[in-house]
Amino acid sequence: MNIPGTPRFPGATDSAEAGTAPICSAKGCRTPAVWVLAWNNPKLHTPERRKTWLACDEHREHLSSFLGVRGFLKDVVSLEEWEEGHSADDGR
Ligand SMILES: [Zn+2]
Repeated sequence: MNIPGTPRFPGATDSAEAGTAPICSAKGCRTPAVWVLAWNNPKLHTPERRKTWLACDEHREHLSSFLGVRGFLKDVVSLEEWEEGHSADDGR
């Protein structure tokens, strides 16, 4: 059933659904992410552990400097590259 007045972009799904395009981790940002920032907090995480933040073009700088000044930032890669690297690593 369609609710009039509710805009629905083609291909858009509710965020609860799996397979949704990853969204930028910046607060309040709903832009699809294109960058993956891999980071590690040595006080909380073992050295091999990688936490990831997603970023759109606009917030890549902001988020990476946030992590950078704390010495947490390990790597910034495009989402495409990240997923390639990880699908090769995962499973099997
Ligand atoms: Zn953003």
